[in-house]
Amino acid sequence: MADPKGFLETTRELPAKRPVEERKKDWKELYEPMAEEKTIKQASRCMDCGVPFCHSGCPLGNIIPEFNDAVYQEDWREAWNILSETNNFPEFTGRICPAPCESACVLGINQPPVAIEHIEKSIAEEAFSRGYARPNPPNSRTGKKVSVIGSGPAGLAAAAQLNKAGHTVTVYERNTRIGGLLRYGIPDFKMEKTVIDRRVALMEAEGIRFEVNANVGGNVDAKQLVRESDAVVLAGGSTIPRDIPSPGREMKGIHFAMSFLEQNNKRVAGDDLSDQEEIHAKGKNVVVIGGGDTGADCVGTSNRHGAASVTQIEIMGKPPTERNPDNWPNWPMILRTSTSHEEGCEREWAILTEAFLGDEDGNLKAIKTVQIRWAKDATGRNTFVKVPGTERELPCELLLIAAGFMHPQHEGLLSKLGVGLDPRRNVAADPQHGYQTSVPKVFAAGDMRRGQSLVVWAISEGRECARSVDAFLTGGESVLEGKDAG
Ligand code: FAD
Repeated sequence: MADPKGFLETTRELPAKRPVEERKKDWKELYEPMAEEKTIKQASRCMDCGVPFCHSGCPLGNIIPEFNDAVYQEDWREAWNILSETNNFPEFTGRICPAPCESACVLGINQPPVAIEHIEKSIAEEAFSRGYARPNPPNSRTGKKVSVIGSGPAGLAAAAQLNKAGHTVTVYERNTRIGGLLRYGIPDFKMEKTVIDRRVALMEAEGIRFEVNANVGGNVDAKQLVRESDAVVLAGGSTIPRDIPSPGREMKGIHFAMSFLEQNNKRVAGDDLSDQEEIHAKGKNVVVIGGGDTGADCVGTSNRHGAASVTQIEIMGKPPTERNPDNWPNWPMILRTSTSHEEGCEREWAILTEAFLGDEDGNLKAIKTVQIRWAKDATGRNTFVKVPGTERELPCELLLIAAGFMHPQHEGLLSKLGVGLDPRRNVAADPQHGYQTSVPKVFAAGDMRRGQSLVVWAISEGRECARSVDAFLTGGESVLEGKDAG
Protein backbone atom coordinates (compact mmCIF):
# COMPACT_ATOMS: atom_id res chain seq x y z
CA MET A 1 0.00 0.00 0.00
CA ALA A 2 0.98 3.65 -0.30
CA ASP A 3 1.77 5.62 2.88
CA PRO A 4 -0.60 4.36 5.64
CA LYS A 5 -0.86 7.87 7.06
CA GLY A 6 -0.67 9.72 3.76
CA PHE A 7 -4.32 10.74 3.75
CA LEU A 8 -3.95 12.20 7.26
CA GLU A 9 -0.95 14.28 6.30
CA THR A 10 -1.60 15.42 2.75
CA THR A 11 -4.65 17.16 1.35
CA ARG A 12 -5.87 16.74 -2.21
CA GLU A 13 -4.11 18.98 -4.66
CA LEU A 14 -4.51 19.21 -8.43
CA PRO A 15 -2.24 20.91 -10.95
CA ALA A 16 -2.76 24.65 -11.25
CA LYS A 17 -4.76 25.96 -14.18
CA ARG A 18 -3.30 28.66 -16.37
CA PRO A 19 -4.88 32.07 -15.65
CA VAL A 20 -8.18 32.54 -17.50
CA GLU A 21 -7.09 35.64 -19.41
CA GLU A 22 -3.91 33.88 -20.59
CA ARG A 23 -5.50 30.58 -21.60
CA LYS A 24 -8.37 32.25 -23.47
CA LYS A 25 -5.79 33.57 -25.94
CA ASP A 26 -4.67 30.14 -27.15
CA TRP A 27 -5.74 26.53 -27.67
CA LYS A 28 -3.12 24.90 -25.45
CA GLU A 29 -4.10 22.56 -22.62
CA LEU A 30 -5.09 24.56 -19.61
CA TYR A 31 -3.42 22.64 -16.78
CA GLU A 32 0.16 23.50 -15.73
CA PRO A 33 2.51 20.57 -15.13
CA MET A 34 2.79 19.53 -11.48
CA ALA A 35 6.08 18.74 -9.74
CA GLU A 36 6.81 15.00 -9.51
CA GLU A 37 7.20 15.13 -5.69
CA LYS A 38 3.73 16.60 -5.40
CA THR A 39 2.19 13.83 -7.50
CA ILE A 40 3.96 11.23 -5.35
CA LYS A 41 2.45 12.91 -2.27
CA GLN A 42 -0.97 12.71 -3.90
CA ALA A 43 -0.50 8.97 -4.52
CA SER A 44 0.37 8.56 -0.83
CA ARG A 45 -3.23 9.52 0.04
CA CYS A 46 -4.53 6.16 -1.26
CA MET A 47 -5.41 4.45 2.01
CA ASP A 48 -5.57 0.76 1.06
CA CYS A 49 -9.20 0.75 2.12
CA GLY A 50 -9.71 -3.01 1.95
CA VAL A 51 -12.49 -2.99 -0.61
CA PRO A 52 -11.26 -0.61 -3.32
CA PHE A 53 -14.54 0.57 -4.81
CA CYS A 54 -12.52 2.66 -7.27
CA HIS A 55 -11.86 -0.60 -9.19
CA SER A 56 -15.52 -1.15 -9.87
CA GLY A 57 -16.22 2.57 -10.25
CA CYS A 58 -13.88 2.52 -13.24
CA PRO A 59 -15.47 0.95 -16.35
CA LEU A 60 -12.01 -0.38 -17.23
CA GLY A 61 -11.43 -1.92 -13.81
CA ASN A 62 -8.16 -0.01 -13.41
CA ILE A 63 -6.11 -1.45 -10.56
CA ILE A 64 -5.87 1.88 -8.81
CA PRO A 65 -4.44 1.16 -5.33
CA GLU A 66 -1.60 -0.82 -6.91
CA PHE A 67 -0.56 1.92 -9.32
CA ASN A 68 -0.87 4.51 -6.56
CA ASP A 69 1.49 2.40 -4.47
CA ALA A 70 3.97 2.11 -7.35
CA VAL A 71 3.91 5.91 -7.80
CA TYR A 72 4.43 6.38 -4.08
CA GLN A 73 7.45 4.01 -4.34
CA GLU A 74 8.63 6.21 -7.28
CA ASP A 75 8.52 3.18 -9.54
CA TRP A 76 7.00 4.83 -12.62
CA ARG A 77 7.75 1.86 -14.85
CA GLU A 78 5.81 -0.49 -12.60
CA ALA A 79 2.95 2.03 -12.34
CA TRP A 80 2.85 2.17 -16.16
CA ASN A 81 2.84 -1.63 -16.43
CA ILE A 82 -0.07 -1.91 -13.99
CA LEU A 83 -2.07 0.84 -15.66
CA SER A 84 -1.44 -0.45 -19.20
CA GLU A 85 -2.85 -3.86 -18.25
CA THR A 86 -6.37 -2.45 -18.09
CA ASN A 87 -6.28 0.82 -20.02
CA ASN A 88 -4.89 1.16 -23.54
CA PHE A 89 -4.98 4.96 -23.46
CA PRO A 90 -4.46 6.43 -19.98
CA GLU A 91 -3.09 9.59 -21.61
CA PHE A 92 -6.66 10.21 -22.92
CA THR A 93 -8.63 9.26 -19.82
CA GLY A 94 -6.10 11.01 -17.56
CA ARG A 95 -7.08 14.25 -19.30
CA ILE A 96 -10.78 14.04 -20.11
CA CYS A 97 -12.44 11.36 -18.03
CA PRO A 98 -15.07 12.56 -15.54
CA ALA A 99 -13.35 10.05 -13.27
CA PRO A 100 -16.11 7.83 -11.88
CA CYS A 101 -13.27 6.16 -9.91
CA GLU A 102 -12.91 9.32 -7.83
CA SER A 103 -16.64 9.34 -7.04
CA ALA A 104 -16.18 5.74 -5.84
CA CYS A 105 -13.04 6.45 -3.76
CA VAL A 106 -13.65 5.48 -0.13
CA LEU A 107 -11.54 8.38 1.13
CA GLY A 108 -14.15 10.57 -0.55
CA ILE A 109 -16.68 9.68 2.15
CA ASN A 110 -15.22 12.24 4.53
CA GLN A 111 -12.32 13.85 2.65
CA PRO A 112 -11.71 14.91 -0.93
CA PRO A 113 -10.97 11.72 -2.93
CA VAL A 114 -7.53 10.64 -4.13
CA ALA A 115 -6.55 12.61 -7.27
CA ILE A 116 -6.70 9.43 -9.37
CA GLU A 117 -7.20 11.08 -12.75
CA HIS A 118 -4.20 13.36 -12.29
CA ILE A 119 -2.04 10.43 -11.11
CA GLU A 120 -3.13 8.44 -14.18
CA LYS A 121 -2.15 11.26 -16.52
CA SER A 122 1.20 11.64 -14.72
CA ILE A 123 1.96 7.91 -15.09
CA ALA A 124 1.24 8.13 -18.82
CA GLU A 125 3.29 11.29 -19.32
CA GLU A 126 6.23 9.87 -17.34
CA ALA A 127 6.03 6.70 -19.46
CA PHE A 128 6.18 8.65 -22.71
CA SER A 129 8.98 10.94 -21.57
CA ARG A 130 11.07 8.15 -19.97
CA GLY A 131 10.60 5.83 -22.96
CA TYR A 132 8.55 3.10 -21.22
CA ALA A 133 5.71 3.68 -23.69
CA ARG A 134 7.16 1.95 -26.71
CA PRO A 135 5.83 -0.29 -29.50
CA ASN A 136 5.09 -3.80 -28.33
CA PRO A 137 4.21 -5.84 -31.43
CA PRO A 138 2.97 -9.42 -31.06
CA ASN A 139 5.55 -12.21 -31.30
CA SER A 140 3.62 -14.04 -33.99
CA ARG A 141 0.68 -13.47 -36.31
CA THR A 142 -2.45 -15.64 -36.52
CA GLY A 143 -3.09 -14.89 -40.19
CA LYS A 144 -6.61 -13.65 -39.36
CA LYS A 145 -7.65 -10.34 -40.86
CA VAL A 146 -9.79 -7.90 -38.83
CA SER A 147 -11.28 -4.65 -40.12
CA VAL A 148 -12.19 -1.99 -37.57
CA ILE A 149 -14.52 0.72 -38.84
CA GLY A 150 -14.11 4.01 -36.96
CA SER A 151 -11.02 5.37 -35.23
CA GLY A 152 -12.52 6.84 -32.05
CA PRO A 153 -11.47 5.41 -28.67
CA ALA A 154 -13.64 2.30 -29.13
CA GLY A 155 -12.14 1.42 -32.52
CA LEU A 156 -8.62 2.23 -31.38
CA ALA A 157 -8.95 0.08 -28.24
CA ALA A 158 -10.38 -2.83 -30.23
CA ALA A 159 -7.59 -2.49 -32.80
CA ALA A 160 -4.85 -2.35 -30.15
CA GLN A 161 -6.17 -5.45 -28.38
CA LEU A 162 -6.75 -7.50 -31.53
CA ASN A 163 -3.30 -6.63 -32.80
CA LYS A 164 -1.85 -7.66 -29.45
CA ALA A 165 -3.55 -11.06 -29.92
CA GLY A 166 -1.66 -11.42 -33.22
CA HIS A 167 -4.43 -10.65 -35.70
CA THR A 168 -3.77 -8.40 -38.69
CA VAL A 169 -5.76 -5.22 -38.11
CA THR A 170 -6.73 -2.37 -40.43
CA VAL A 171 -8.64 0.65 -39.09
CA TYR A 172 -10.86 2.47 -41.61
CA GLU A 173 -11.70 6.11 -40.87
CA ARG A 174 -13.85 8.30 -43.09
CA ASN A 175 -12.39 11.55 -41.78
CA THR A 176 -8.97 12.87 -42.74
CA ARG A 177 -7.31 12.13 -39.41
CA ILE A 178 -7.50 9.41 -36.79
CA GLY A 179 -9.20 9.84 -33.41
CA GLY A 180 -12.98 10.22 -33.78
CA LEU A 181 -14.41 12.65 -31.25
CA LEU A 182 -11.04 12.81 -29.49
CA ARG A 183 -9.79 14.56 -32.62
CA TYR A 184 -12.80 16.46 -33.92
CA GLY A 185 -15.13 16.93 -30.92
CA ILE A 186 -12.91 17.55 -27.92
CA PRO A 187 -11.06 20.89 -28.20
CA ASP A 188 -7.30 21.20 -27.84
CA PHE A 189 -7.60 23.08 -24.56
CA LYS A 190 -8.86 19.80 -23.03
CA MET A 191 -6.49 17.55 -24.97
CA GLU A 192 -3.87 18.63 -27.50
CA LYS A 193 -3.89 16.49 -30.61
CA THR A 194 -0.20 15.56 -30.36
CA VAL A 195 -1.41 13.22 -27.61
CA ILE A 196 -3.38 11.26 -30.23
CA ASP A 197 -0.62 11.48 -32.85
CA ARG A 198 2.06 9.91 -30.64
CA ARG A 199 -0.32 7.06 -29.72
CA VAL A 200 -1.23 6.41 -33.34
CA ALA A 201 2.50 6.34 -34.19
CA LEU A 202 3.00 3.65 -31.52
CA MET A 203 0.09 1.61 -32.87
CA GLU A 204 1.45 1.85 -36.42
CA ALA A 205 4.83 0.69 -35.19
CA GLU A 206 3.06 -2.30 -33.62
CA GLY A 207 1.72 -3.23 -37.05
CA ILE A 208 -1.77 -1.72 -37.19
CA ARG A 209 -2.70 -0.18 -40.56
CA PHE A 210 -4.77 3.00 -40.71
CA GLU A 211 -6.73 4.06 -43.77
CA VAL A 212 -8.16 7.58 -43.67
CA ASN A 213 -10.70 9.13 -46.07
CA ALA A 214 -12.16 5.62 -46.15
CA ASN A 215 -15.93 5.83 -45.69
CA VAL A 216 -17.09 2.24 -45.38
CA GLY A 217 -20.52 2.05 -47.00
CA GLY A 218 -19.48 5.06 -49.12
CA ASN A 219 -16.23 5.01 -51.06
CA VAL A 220 -15.31 1.62 -49.51
CA ASP A 221 -17.69 -1.24 -50.30
CA ALA A 222 -19.06 -2.47 -46.96
CA LYS A 223 -20.15 -5.95 -48.04
CA GLN A 224 -16.91 -6.61 -49.85
CA LEU A 225 -14.94 -5.53 -46.77
CA VAL A 226 -16.92 -7.99 -44.65
CA ARG A 227 -16.36 -10.76 -47.21
CA GLU A 228 -12.62 -10.13 -47.27
CA SER A 229 -12.24 -9.93 -43.47
CA ASP A 230 -12.31 -12.71 -40.92
CA ALA A 231 -14.11 -10.33 -38.53
CA VAL A 232 -15.31 -6.73 -38.58
CA VAL A 233 -15.76 -4.34 -35.65
CA LEU A 234 -18.22 -1.47 -36.12
CA ALA A 235 -17.11 1.49 -34.01
CA GLY A 236 -18.61 4.40 -35.92
CA GLY A 237 -19.89 6.41 -32.94
CA SER A 238 -23.25 8.08 -32.32
CA THR A 239 -23.35 10.88 -34.83
CA ILE A 240 -26.95 12.00 -35.38
CA PRO A 241 -27.56 15.10 -33.24
CA ARG A 242 -30.85 15.90 -31.49
CA ASP A 243 -32.41 18.98 -33.09
CA ILE A 244 -34.46 21.83 -31.58
CA PRO A 245 -37.25 22.11 -34.13
CA SER A 246 -38.69 25.43 -32.85
CA PRO A 247 -40.10 27.96 -35.32
CA GLY A 248 -37.33 29.84 -37.15
CA ARG A 249 -34.94 26.86 -37.07
CA GLU A 250 -33.94 27.61 -40.68
CA MET A 251 -32.37 31.01 -39.76
CA LYS A 252 -28.76 31.66 -40.71
CA GLY A 253 -26.55 31.45 -37.63
CA ILE A 254 -27.97 28.23 -36.15
CA HIS A 255 -25.60 25.26 -36.14
CA PHE A 256 -25.15 21.92 -34.48
CA ALA A 257 -22.36 21.95 -31.90
CA MET A 258 -20.32 19.37 -33.79
CA SER A 259 -20.25 21.49 -36.98
CA PHE A 260 -18.78 24.31 -34.91
CA LEU A 261 -16.35 22.17 -32.90
CA GLU A 262 -15.18 20.02 -35.81
CA GLN A 263 -14.47 23.08 -37.93
CA ASN A 264 -12.59 24.71 -35.09
CA ASN A 265 -10.50 21.62 -34.39
CA LYS A 266 -9.60 21.56 -38.09
CA ARG A 267 -8.75 25.27 -38.01
CA VAL A 268 -6.47 24.78 -35.01
CA ALA A 269 -4.81 21.86 -36.84
CA GLY A 270 -4.13 24.17 -39.79
CA ASP A 271 -6.46 22.36 -42.22
CA ASP A 272 -7.70 24.10 -45.37
CA LEU A 273 -11.29 25.23 -44.69
CA SER A 274 -11.76 27.32 -47.83
CA ASP A 275 -14.61 25.09 -49.07
CA GLN A 276 -16.64 25.54 -45.86
CA GLU A 277 -18.97 28.23 -44.57
CA GLU A 278 -17.12 29.80 -41.64
CA ILE A 279 -18.76 29.29 -38.22
CA HIS A 280 -17.08 31.75 -35.86
CA ALA A 281 -18.15 33.39 -32.61
CA LYS A 282 -16.03 36.58 -32.74
CA GLY A 283 -18.05 39.60 -31.66
CA LYS A 284 -21.28 37.61 -31.50
CA ASN A 285 -23.79 36.94 -28.77
CA VAL A 286 -23.60 33.17 -28.55
CA VAL A 287 -26.28 30.96 -27.03
CA VAL A 288 -25.52 27.30 -26.47
CA ILE A 289 -28.52 25.01 -26.01
CA GLY A 290 -27.53 22.01 -23.91
CA GLY A 291 -25.78 21.84 -20.57
CA GLY A 292 -23.47 18.83 -20.99
CA ASP A 293 -19.83 18.34 -22.02
CA THR A 294 -20.45 19.24 -25.66
CA GLY A 295 -22.14 22.49 -24.61
CA ALA A 296 -19.24 23.32 -22.29
CA ASP A 297 -16.78 22.76 -25.14
CA CYS A 298 -18.79 25.23 -27.26
CA VAL A 299 -18.56 27.75 -24.40
CA GLY A 300 -14.76 27.44 -24.14
CA THR A 301 -14.36 27.63 -27.92
CA SER A 302 -16.64 30.69 -28.24
CA ASN A 303 -14.70 32.52 -25.53
CA ARG A 304 -11.44 31.80 -27.34
CA HIS A 305 -12.95 33.16 -30.55
CA GLY A 306 -13.74 36.43 -28.73
CA ALA A 307 -17.55 36.19 -28.44
CA ALA A 308 -19.37 39.29 -27.19
CA SER A 309 -21.34 37.15 -24.74
CA VAL A 310 -21.88 33.45 -24.08
CA THR A 311 -25.03 32.02 -22.51
CA GLN A 312 -25.68 28.32 -21.96
CA ILE A 313 -29.25 27.21 -21.44
CA GLU A 314 -30.55 23.82 -20.42
CA ILE A 315 -34.10 22.49 -20.39
CA MET A 316 -33.51 20.21 -17.41
CA GLY A 317 -33.81 21.70 -13.94
CA LYS A 318 -31.56 21.87 -10.95
CA PRO A 319 -31.85 19.39 -8.07
CA PRO A 320 -34.85 19.81 -5.77
CA THR A 321 -34.52 22.50 -3.13
CA GLU A 322 -36.72 23.36 -0.16
CA ARG A 323 -38.20 26.28 -2.08
CA ASN A 324 -38.56 24.30 -5.26
CA PRO A 325 -39.10 20.65 -4.37
CA ASP A 326 -40.25 19.77 -7.90
CA ASN A 327 -36.98 20.65 -9.58
CA TRP A 328 -35.99 17.77 -11.81
CA PRO A 329 -33.86 15.92 -12.64
CA ASN A 330 -30.80 15.70 -10.46
CA TRP A 331 -28.49 14.96 -13.35
CA PRO A 332 -24.81 15.64 -12.58
CA MET A 333 -23.71 16.09 -16.20
CA ILE A 334 -25.63 19.36 -16.52
CA LEU A 335 -24.65 20.70 -13.11
CA ARG A 336 -20.89 20.26 -13.32
CA THR A 337 -18.86 23.44 -13.58
CA SER A 338 -16.23 22.86 -16.20
CA THR A 339 -13.09 24.88 -16.77
CA SER A 340 -14.88 26.47 -19.74
CA HIS A 341 -17.54 27.93 -17.46
CA GLU A 342 -14.81 29.59 -15.38
CA GLU A 343 -13.78 31.47 -18.51
CA GLY A 344 -17.01 33.43 -18.72
CA CYS A 345 -20.56 32.22 -19.32
CA GLU A 346 -24.08 32.84 -18.10
CA ARG A 347 -25.78 29.55 -17.25
CA GLU A 348 -29.48 28.98 -16.87
CA TRP A 349 -31.47 25.83 -16.20
CA ALA A 350 -35.11 24.89 -16.85
CA ILE A 351 -35.31 27.10 -19.95
CA LEU A 352 -37.43 26.18 -22.96
CA THR A 353 -36.58 27.59 -26.40
CA GLU A 354 -39.83 28.70 -28.00
CA ALA A 355 -38.64 30.33 -31.22
CA PHE A 356 -35.68 31.66 -33.18
CA LEU A 357 -36.12 35.27 -34.33
CA GLY A 358 -34.33 36.92 -37.24
CA ASP A 359 -34.26 39.84 -39.64
CA GLU A 360 -35.83 39.96 -43.10
CA ASP A 361 -32.72 38.38 -44.63
CA GLY A 362 -33.10 35.34 -42.40
CA ASN A 363 -30.18 36.15 -40.10
CA LEU A 364 -30.66 35.03 -36.51
CA LYS A 365 -31.00 37.98 -34.11
CA ALA A 366 -32.51 36.56 -30.93
CA ILE A 367 -34.09 33.54 -29.34
CA LYS A 368 -37.36 33.52 -27.47
CA THR A 369 -37.33 31.53 -24.25
CA VAL A 370 -39.53 30.83 -21.28
CA GLN A 371 -38.73 29.50 -17.82
CA ILE A 372 -40.30 26.14 -17.04
CA ARG A 373 -40.99 24.19 -13.88
CA TRP A 374 -40.72 20.42 -13.79
CA ALA A 375 -43.59 18.60 -12.11
CA LYS A 376 -45.32 15.23 -12.06
CA ASP A 377 -48.49 14.79 -14.12
CA ALA A 378 -51.56 12.84 -12.98
CA THR A 379 -49.91 9.54 -14.00
CA GLY A 380 -46.72 10.35 -12.07
CA ARG A 381 -44.66 11.11 -15.17
CA ASN A 382 -42.23 14.01 -15.13
CA THR A 383 -43.50 16.86 -17.24
CA PHE A 384 -43.03 20.62 -17.31
CA VAL A 385 -45.20 23.71 -17.12
CA LYS A 386 -44.28 27.16 -18.41
CA VAL A 387 -43.91 29.80 -15.72
CA PRO A 388 -46.22 32.70 -16.71
CA GLY A 389 -44.53 36.07 -17.20
CA THR A 390 -41.03 34.65 -17.77
CA GLU A 391 -40.96 34.94 -21.59
CA ARG A 392 -37.77 36.62 -22.81
CA GLU A 393 -35.83 37.47 -25.93
CA LEU A 394 -32.09 36.81 -25.71
CA PRO A 395 -29.97 38.61 -28.32
CA CYS A 396 -28.16 35.94 -30.32
CA GLU A 397 -26.34 35.87 -33.63
CA LEU A 398 -24.79 32.42 -33.19
CA LEU A 399 -26.85 29.57 -31.77
CA LEU A 400 -25.19 26.25 -31.10
CA ILE A 401 -27.32 23.15 -30.53
CA ALA A 402 -25.63 20.77 -28.11
CA ALA A 403 -28.70 18.75 -27.17
CA GLY A 404 -27.10 15.32 -27.39
CA PHE A 405 -26.91 12.59 -29.98
CA MET A 406 -29.74 10.22 -30.79
CA HIS A 407 -28.12 7.24 -32.51
CA PRO A 408 -25.59 6.34 -35.21
CA GLN A 409 -26.06 7.21 -38.84
CA HIS A 410 -28.12 4.45 -40.46
CA GLU A 411 -27.58 5.39 -44.09
CA GLY A 412 -24.48 3.89 -45.70
CA LEU A 413 -22.57 1.41 -43.56
CA LEU A 414 -25.41 0.09 -41.36
CA SER A 415 -28.14 -0.05 -43.97
CA LYS A 416 -25.82 -1.61 -46.55
CA LEU A 417 -24.83 -4.36 -44.14
CA GLY A 418 -28.43 -4.76 -42.90
CA VAL A 419 -27.32 -4.66 -39.27
CA GLY A 420 -30.16 -5.00 -36.71
CA LEU A 421 -30.91 -2.08 -34.38
CA ASP A 422 -32.05 -1.95 -30.76
CA PRO A 423 -35.15 -0.01 -29.61
CA ARG A 424 -33.07 3.20 -29.30
CA ARG A 425 -31.89 2.69 -32.89
CA ASN A 426 -28.31 1.95 -31.90
CA VAL A 427 -26.61 -1.16 -33.29
CA ALA A 428 -27.94 -4.21 -31.45
CA ALA A 429 -24.93 -6.17 -30.16
CA ASP A 430 -25.44 -7.45 -26.64
CA PRO A 431 -22.30 -7.68 -24.44
CA GLN A 432 -23.82 -10.89 -23.02
CA HIS A 433 -23.62 -12.31 -26.53
CA GLY A 434 -20.12 -11.12 -27.21
CA TYR A 435 -20.91 -7.83 -28.97
CA GLN A 436 -21.99 -9.83 -32.02
CA THR A 437 -24.43 -8.01 -34.32
CA SER A 438 -27.20 -9.65 -36.36
CA VAL A 439 -24.71 -10.04 -39.24
CA PRO A 440 -22.31 -13.00 -38.96
CA LYS A 441 -18.72 -12.09 -38.04
CA VAL A 442 -19.67 -8.42 -37.55
CA PHE A 443 -19.30 -7.01 -34.02
CA ALA A 444 -19.98 -3.53 -32.59
CA ALA A 445 -18.60 -1.41 -29.75
CA GLY A 446 -18.63 2.10 -28.31
CA ASP A 447 -21.21 4.84 -28.87
CA MET A 448 -22.48 3.13 -32.03
CA ARG A 449 -23.73 0.25 -29.84
CA ARG A 450 -24.10 1.87 -26.45
CA GLY A 451 -25.39 5.30 -27.47
CA GLN A 452 -23.73 8.60 -26.58
CA SER A 453 -21.41 7.95 -23.64
CA LEU A 454 -17.87 8.54 -22.40
CA VAL A 455 -14.34 7.89 -23.64
CA VAL A 456 -13.69 5.46 -20.78
CA TRP A 457 -16.74 3.39 -21.79
CA ALA A 458 -15.67 3.42 -25.43
CA ILE A 459 -12.25 2.04 -24.46
CA SER A 460 -13.84 -0.53 -22.19
CA GLU A 461 -16.24 -1.70 -24.92
CA GLY A 462 -13.46 -1.79 -27.52
CA ARG A 463 -11.43 -4.07 -25.24
CA GLU A 464 -14.33 -6.36 -24.33
CA CYS A 465 -15.48 -6.58 -27.94
CA ALA A 466 -11.91 -7.46 -28.99
CA ARG A 467 -11.92 -10.32 -26.48
CA SER A 468 -15.06 -11.73 -28.09
CA VAL A 469 -13.67 -11.29 -31.58
CA ASP A 470 -10.46 -13.03 -30.55
CA ALA A 471 -12.41 -15.98 -29.09
CA PHE A 472 -14.53 -16.12 -32.27
CA LEU A 473 -11.44 -16.13 -34.50
CA THR A 474 -9.52 -18.71 -32.55
CA GLY A 475 -12.50 -20.86 -31.65
CA GLY A 476 -11.49 -20.98 -27.99
CA GLU A 477 -10.80 -18.78 -24.97
CA SER A 478 -9.41 -15.35 -25.75
CA VAL A 479 -5.81 -14.72 -24.79
CA LEU A 480 -6.75 -11.12 -23.99
CA GLU A 481 -7.32 -9.94 -20.43
CA GLY A 482 -10.77 -8.47 -19.77
CA LYS A 483 -13.52 -7.31 -17.49
CA ASP A 484 -17.24 -7.65 -18.06
CA ALA A 485 -18.69 -4.37 -19.37
CA GLY A 486 -21.81 -3.17 -17.56
P1 FAD B 1 -16.33 8.25 -31.94
O1 FAD B 1 -15.32 8.89 -31.08
O2 FAD B 1 -17.52 9.05 -32.33
O3 FAD B 1 -15.57 7.74 -33.25
C1 FAD B 1 -16.28 7.16 -34.31
C2 FAD B 1 -15.45 7.29 -35.58
O4 FAD B 1 -16.01 6.46 -36.60
C3 FAD B 1 -15.43 8.70 -36.15
O5 FAD B 1 -14.09 9.09 -36.37
C4 FAD B 1 -16.19 8.57 -37.47
O6 FAD B 1 -15.71 9.47 -38.46
C5 FAD B 1 -15.90 7.13 -37.83
N1 FAD B 1 -16.88 6.55 -38.75
C6 FAD B 1 -18.23 6.53 -38.62
N2 FAD B 1 -18.79 5.88 -39.65
C7 FAD B 1 -17.78 5.47 -40.45
C8 FAD B 1 -17.73 4.76 -41.70
N3 FAD B 1 -18.85 4.34 -42.30
N4 FAD B 1 -16.53 4.51 -42.26
C9 FAD B 1 -15.38 4.94 -41.64
N5 FAD B 1 -15.37 5.63 -40.48
C10 FAD B 1 -16.56 5.88 -39.89
N6 FAD B 1 -16.30 11.89 -23.15
C11 FAD B 1 -15.49 11.94 -22.07
O7 FAD B 1 -15.25 10.91 -21.45
N7 FAD B 1 -14.93 13.12 -21.66
C12 FAD B 1 -15.13 14.28 -22.34
O8 FAD B 1 -14.61 15.33 -21.95
C13 FAD B 1 -15.95 14.25 -23.49
N8 FAD B 1 -16.16 15.37 -24.22
C14 FAD B 1 -16.90 15.31 -25.34
C15 FAD B 1 -17.04 16.45 -26.12
C16 FAD B 1 -17.79 16.44 -27.27
C17 FAD B 1 -17.92 17.67 -28.09
C18 FAD B 1 -18.46 15.23 -27.65
C19 FAD B 1 -19.31 15.22 -28.89
C20 FAD B 1 -18.32 14.08 -26.91
C21 FAD B 1 -17.53 14.11 -25.74
N9 FAD B 1 -17.34 12.95 -24.98
C22 FAD B 1 -16.54 13.01 -23.87
C23 FAD B 1 -17.90 11.65 -25.40
C24 FAD B 1 -16.84 10.81 -26.12
O9 FAD B 1 -16.08 11.61 -26.99
C25 FAD B 1 -17.48 9.64 -26.87
O10 FAD B 1 -18.26 8.89 -25.96
C26 FAD B 1 -16.42 8.72 -27.49
O11 FAD B 1 -15.56 9.43 -28.35
C27 FAD B 1 -17.09 7.59 -28.28
O12 FAD B 1 -16.10 6.83 -28.89
P2 FAD B 1 -16.40 5.92 -30.18
O13 FAD B 1 -15.10 5.34 -30.56
O14 FAD B 1 -17.53 5.01 -29.89
O15 FAD B 1 -16.93 6.93 -31.30
